[in-house]
Order: sequence, then C-alpha cells, then structure tokens
Amino acid sequence: MTLVPFDDRDGSIWMDGEFVAWRDAKVHVLSHGLHYGSAVFEGGRTYNGRLFKVSEHIERLFKSAEILDFDMPYSVAEVETAYKETVARMGLENAYIRPVAWRGPEQMSVSAIHTKVHVAVAVWEWPSYFDPEAAKRGIRLTYAPYKRPAPDMAPVHAKAAGLYLIGTLSKHYAERAGYADALMMDYRGYVAEATGANIFFIREGAVHTPTPDCFLNGITRQTVVDLARARGFEVVERHIKPEELSTFNECFITGTAAEVTFVSEIGEHRYTPGNMSFALQDDYNRLVRGELQMN
Ligand code: PMP
Repeated sequence: MTLVPFDDRDGSIWMDGEFVAWRDAKVHVLSHGLHYGSAVFEGGRTYNGRLFKVSEHIERLFKSAEILDFDMPYSVAEVETAYKETVARMGLENAYIRPVAWRGPEQMSVSAIHTKVHVAVAVWEWPSYFDPEAAKRGIRLTYAPYKRPAPDMAPVHAKAAGLYLIGTLSKHYAERAGYADALMMDYRGYVAEATGANIFFIREGAVHTPTPDCFLNGITRQTVVDLARARGFEVVERHIKPEELSTFNECFITGTAAEVTFVSEIGEHRYTPGNMSFALQDDYNRLVRGELQMN
C-alpha cells in the first residue's frame, strides 16, 4: 500500500484561529496531548459538496472536550465556521473533515490544569474505509482481544484519542489474521461495536443494536435508527449477548467513515445482507447526498 504521509500534503489547515500551510501545522514534541492522550477529535464528511450533520459533529466535539475537562478557547459557532471554511478552502466535493482539540506543552505531568487547549481542522479527500470489493460482499470480523471499558473505567462517551489504544490494537490483531475489523465486547461481555463503527443485526423483520451505554452513540447509528423507524421497521436497542450472534441473519456496521457496511462473518457466524440491510444502506446513501429528506 502506498501511503501519502499526512504531514506532506498540499493545502491549508485551520489551526488556533488561522489558516496555516499544510506542512507547517505542527505541534511541539512535549505537548500533553501526545504524552498523555489528552485529545478529542471528530470525523465528518461532505458528499458532493454537501456537509452532513455539521452541528452534530461540532456539538459532540465540545461534549468530548467537556468530558475531558478541556477549557475550549473557541465557541461552538467559531469552530463550526472554521469547519465550513476549511472545507470551502480545500475545495473538495467529497471530503473527510477532522477537527481535533488537544492539550499543549505548558505542563508535562499527569495534571494538565495549566495547559492550553489547541484546536485544528483538517480536510482531505475521502478514501474508502474498507476495501470496496470486500464491502460489497460484506466484510469479515473477528473477535477483538480488548473489551470496551465501563463508564467508571474510562471517559467512554467522549471521542477521545486515548480510547483508541484498544481499538488500534484490536484492529491490528484483526488485520494480521486476515480480517477487516474486530467486534469488541463490553466489560460485561455484551456485544458492543467494531473498532470505529457501531453494529446492527437483523432477524425476523426487526433491527437489533446494542444500547450505547459504554461506547459512542454514533451519529450514523442514530441516523440509521431514524431511517429504520421511518420505514416502519421495529428497532430494538438492548444488550446483546454473544450467544445470540448465531440467531441473526443480517449484520452491518455504521459510522461516518464506514457508512453502512455489510458484515458477512463474525468469527464462526455467517450473515447475508437482505432487503432490510439493502434498504437502510440505500436510504443512508441517499440521505447524505440530499436525495432523501427526513423530518
Ligand atoms: N464507535 C467508534 C469507536 C468510532 O470511532 C466511531 C466513528 N466516529 C463510531 C462508533 C461511529 O460514530 P459516527 O457514526 O458518529 O461516526
């Protein structure tokens, strides 16, 4: 795979109130965010030049920041403007948008009370999250070696950099074993989510998805729940046990990056997308492109 390093690209990045040349958007090596994982971020997208759910992403960034005890130096409106202006400046029709906030280098200790919070927004051309050919048939998941922690073990409702340690390690484990991703259980042993996407199952005409009480209630997840209900599908949000994985016929994961991606395997279990999965994927793809309206 040829990778274009993310520090060696053309364009501008909004950083602490101004646009800087892409290659100059740097932080000091003694930044608290780097040493202690004190950073929060977002991932948004534009489709054919249309921004999808901007305020939801900005609000979640601020909620994540609040959970991490950040004193944000900009207002919601200012970051929203930066978000939109960076997209406009990069001139990309189909883009991924990455706002990030992190603690600076004023203090190098567990305590970060005296650090300043920095904010940046970068935008780049949208790449496929999963191999498009594999995604057509459904991606293969294995079981993650790590569990989603309890709400009193980690700030589980923040989209916080530090929480991705176990996601990255689980994803490496999966990729090295030839899988696209890993299914994470939670601290109680219930089915939780993939490493960067929520999960849904279908059986007997009903849509089942885990209650997001110790992981991100994804913006895509909420959108797909609304789309399913709008179609009159029964949606059951509940705790799902691993023993139930054999009882479902269809499975897909959702995320801003993953969109609605079919899953064909989880370990020993097999799934085949059917009418309901196809309908929800199609609804989502049309909604983000402004071809489907929702009230
Ligand atoms: N869970 C995790 C761990 C994620 O990283 C993401 C992607 N942000 C999601 C779920 C899905 O969230 P969203 O639909 O808001 O992108």
